[in-house]
Amino acid sequence: MEVDKLFSTYQTENGDLIEYILHAIDEKQKAGDWDFCIDSKSDKLLSVLMYEYVSSIEKLTDGKFKAKQVIDKLSNQMEKFRIGDFKAGEDDNITYDGKAVTSEAYKKQCRIDKNFGAHAIEYKDDEENSKTAVVLFDNKQVATINGQQYTLSGIDLQDLSDIRHTVFHEWTHIMEKCMIKTSQLSREDIVFEDGESIYINAMLSPDLSKQEYKDFISNVDDLLEGDAEVPFEGISTIELNDRKCPDNRIMHNQISEGATEFIARKVMEIIGEKVKHPDRYAKQVKIVGDIFEANGLAESLNTYFTQPHRIIRALENKRVKSKDMLHYISDYINKPNILKIFSRINIDMDGSVKEGLISRQINRFKRIIFKKDALLLAERDSHSTAYQRKEEKDTFRESLIVSPEESTKKIEKQNEENVQTKDDEKSGPSLDD
Ligand SMILES: [Zn+2]
Repeated sequence: MEVDKLFSTYQTENGDLIEYILHAIDEKQKAGDWDFCIDSKSDKLLSVLMYEYVSSIEKLTDGKFKAKQVIDKLSNQMEKFRIGDFKAGEDDNITYDGKAVTSEAYKKQCRIDKNFGAHAIEYKDDEENSKTAVVLFDNKQVATINGQQYTLSGIDLQDLSDIRHTVFHEWTHIMEKCMIKTSQLSREDIVFEDGESIYINAMLSPDLSKQEYKDFISNVDDLLEGDAEVPFEGISTIELNDRKCPDNRIMHNQISEGATEFIARKVMEIIGEKVKHPDRYAKQVKIVGDIFEANGLAESLNTYFTQPHRIIRALENKRVKSKDMLHYISDYINKPNILKIFSRINIDMDGSVKEGLISRQINRFKRIIFKKDALLLAERDSHSTAYQRKEEKDTFRESLIVSPEESTKKIEKQNEENVQTKDDEKSGPSLDD
């Protein structure tokens, strides 16, 4: 079994870390909170995945974020870890969009309509603490809802690379959640006002009303005076803009999603696994990857896991076409794909936005077309050759649709007219006279 072999390799490589992982898993497993294997086979699966993830994060951050710290953060935040599906009876208190994750309504929404392969859900535990539940769905499951049978979405749990890609992505969602003490924050770290938009850099619940977001903004100064913690979720922000979106808020979480996926792929790269789904968030991954690399990968990732507001602020402080860079690229990603054909953005070596090749190309064509249009207009005005060529073409086209006799007559007639015209010209007034 591949997993067992990997486990013994890792045990030889770093027995101390494996011990630490086994201890963390053991506690959660006894409480029934973490699944650690599939169908009671390869009981080392979770320890192998965890070893790969936490040791890679330590490498990626050049040892700034230690493997054991990663384990602590995951154990502390990930209250539930399910392989296959949520467990009826044990997970009923976890809700998403007001639906219990063990209900048919949840299955319908997430595994039939939205095709989720996995899900990381934030919820409140019995003591009202914010926790996360992570589930990897089994794509072999079926469900009967209202008398109709459905195949449910999920991943291939027989395929280790599918499991790795999915679980590393979901764990990174946990890694990017940070509670930052107000003593370390300024007003701008939490609320950034730019033109007619106000951005909340902290990650408040997406279910709040617009008025509740506004109340939060008016209370930021009080918040900063007290001793509180503010939640951040990667580089996600919430925009309030009464003109663009009068009744609701705009979520800017797609750049952050790219960061999550980028980090998951880096982990895959370190353990020598190929990327299972290269098209997943491909554009976001490219953009965020370039930003991280431009600022030094290890340093950027450590900041991302510990002080994400610093990355948000650095991007908000850069201007691109009268907008801040973070929301310029976020707006770009949120555009429908068809519109992205006309502009492609790249991140420069120094980390700033650059117009991509396609956009440059299109601008070049636009310039040529505009130039030609201008030329054509001028030609038409002066009745010059380009305009006459069009008449010649029309005459030619007309000649094609008539019978041969008519055509001959027509040509003869045209020749007469031409001769006449020339004669007219000849007989016209001459300055030499
Ligand atoms: Zn995600």
